[in-house]
Amino acid sequence: MTSPVSALKTKESLPRIHYYSRANLEKMPCLDRLSAEQVHAIRVVSTVLPFKVNQYMLSLIDWNQVPRDPIFQLTFPQRAMLSPEHFDRMANLLRSQASPGEVQMAARKIQKELNPHPSGQMEHNVPTLDGQRLPGMQHKYQQTVLFFPAQGQTCHSYCTFCFRWAQLVGQEEVRFASRQVETLVEYLKRHREVTDVLITGGDPMIMPTRILQGYLEALLQPGLEHIQNIRIGTKSVSYWPYRYLTDPDADELLLLLDKVASSGKQLAIMAHYNHYRELESEPAQRAVARLRSAGCQIRCQSPLVRHINDSPEVWERMWKLQTRLGLVPYYMFVERDTGPRNYFEVPLARAHEIFRQAYRRVSGLARTVRGPSMSATPGKILVEGVAELGGQKVFVLKFLQARDPNLVGQPFFARFDPEATWFDQLKPVSGEGFFNLAPALAAAGQNAPYQACEGQPLFAAASR
Ligand SMILES: *Cc1c(COP(=O)(O)O)cnc(C)c1O
Ligand code: SF4
Repeated sequence: MTSPVSALKTKESLPRIHYYSRANLEKMPCLDRLSAEQVHAIRVVSTVLPFKVNQYMLSLIDWNQVPRDPIFQLTFPQRAMLSPEHFDRMANLLRSQASPGEVQMAARKIQKELNPHPSGQMEHNVPTLDGQRLPGMQHKYQQTVLFFPAQGQTCHSYCTFCFRWAQLVGQEEVRFASRQVETLVEYLKRHREVTDVLITGGDPMIMPTRILQGYLEALLQPGLEHIQNIRIGTKSVSYWPYRYLTDPDADELLLLLDKVASSGKQLAIMAHYNHYRELESEPAQRAVARLRSAGCQIRCQSPLVRHINDSPEVWERMWKLQTRLGLVPYYMFVERDTGPRNYFEVPLARAHEIFRQAYRRVSGLARTVRGPSMSATPGKILVEGVAELGGQKVFVLKFLQARDPNLVGQPFFARFDPEATWFDQLKPVSGEGFFNLAPALAAAGQNAPYQACEGQPLFAAASR
């Protein structure tokens, strides 16, 4: 029997999350491992870009390798993330003891210059119900509706490269989040083409179990039989595995997930992992095991980010570890054209090479992964490869998802450009734009998109 005293002791030794950010940086353990210059850079850059880290993530950092350590790069602002001009502007304000209001106004101005809303997300994808716009939802691809619960718009730690950074620094909270599960349900009832709901954030797993329960159970109700897959986009399995182990409502969470996973729908955890080190710790692997035993499928996605995972070895080792632990590698994304992109971006040609090098070293079980993929305005565009077309070097591209479903699976070409880092920098091969292949193929009766690639009629003829 446990005495009250030892019960108390156990309770105290349970890890409770402690956050460190700009506001309490001086209290952060390991601060003495950083130079005065590094601390200054963190203070300056975090006026503009999100910064929050917890004690578990601090423990994953190899402090002897700082600043090169990938987990440090993942969670700590670096001086070069701002342009020298922006950095100096903020540094001068801090030095002159400007008021918090002044600092914030200057930061806002810089944030606006960093393309805070990439890919027309705000304008194009907000659905409507009876003529009313539904904030907190996005419906871009036929099958999948994204839902941003209001209480899930923060994370257990912040990624320095986050493409939703504007939301985290408070620029779009109100417009992008929803409390209304009723409108979601009503919308879904009228959209029978939707099979997937993706609950995302921020990080929905930041929500207490009882709040998450409201959202999840609403999706199990009669009338929503066409919703076959419920997905939760989260980095919590990496950033705070104790969410599934020892948090006060961890057991209730696992029971809830088990309930959803046994409802006849797939419950997919769309887990965000950037580096194998996030999966090597013992709590990380125990959290994965608990999720799997609750019946969740765990699929893994990550952007390719310079300074963090821009080598084939990192991806190979990560995909192998994921596969061994029963996780499914899913997407390698190209880092979006927002925020500190200059610091993180990798040219598309290099991204494809990294993908290919890693992909060919893993077994078929890990080749469920697709990439590198750009989430651009017209859709998710895969860089399939580099080839020769009529004596010209080209990128072979393909839509994995498209606003216009006719384009999905259709290969198309762009002029090879070793420096290009995003779709908008690519040029079509001919003057007629990118997607002129679709009508041409349809006219030739080759509707099956993959045939056009595997049978290679267009491709081979043109390269002769
Ligand atoms: C990636 C994405 C999805 C999901 O696409 P899948 O290929 O089905 O994983 C849905 N909506 C948006 C806006 C996306 O970017
Ligand atoms: S966990 Fe996701 S939403 Fe949160 S900071 Fe990282 S990338 Fe952004």
